[in-house]
Amino acid sequence: MYCRNCGKEIPDNSLYCPECGANQKPIPQAGQQTEETKVWGILSIVFAAIPALVLLGIIFGVIGLCTYKQKENQKLCWIGIGIAIAWVVLVVILWLIAFAASISLL
Ligand SMILES: [Zn+2]
Repeated sequence: MYCRNCGKEIPDNSLYCPECGANQKPIPQAGQQTEETKVWGILSIVFAAIPALVLLGIIFGVIGLCTYKQKENQKLCWIGIGIAIAWVVLVVILWLIAFAASISLL
């Protein structure tokens, strides 16, 4: 890395420049972490909660997982995908029960 004050090459992860003594601590960029939008995770959960739109829930969840770097937001997407998969499993089970019932009626 290079000193942000004098521009000389200094060892990586140096806290201070050995040449000029300038502080090399990374300046936290205000709001960078919190500005990440939760919209994909929220959309994922909202659509996953609507049985007819679970596919959209999965799609938004996957988009969110590809977009998000924050664990908290990724969790939202996993919740959305989880709800969507739960619906799909439920529909398949209900369908199987209905199928079995219709066979037993014959
Ligand atoms: Zn320096």
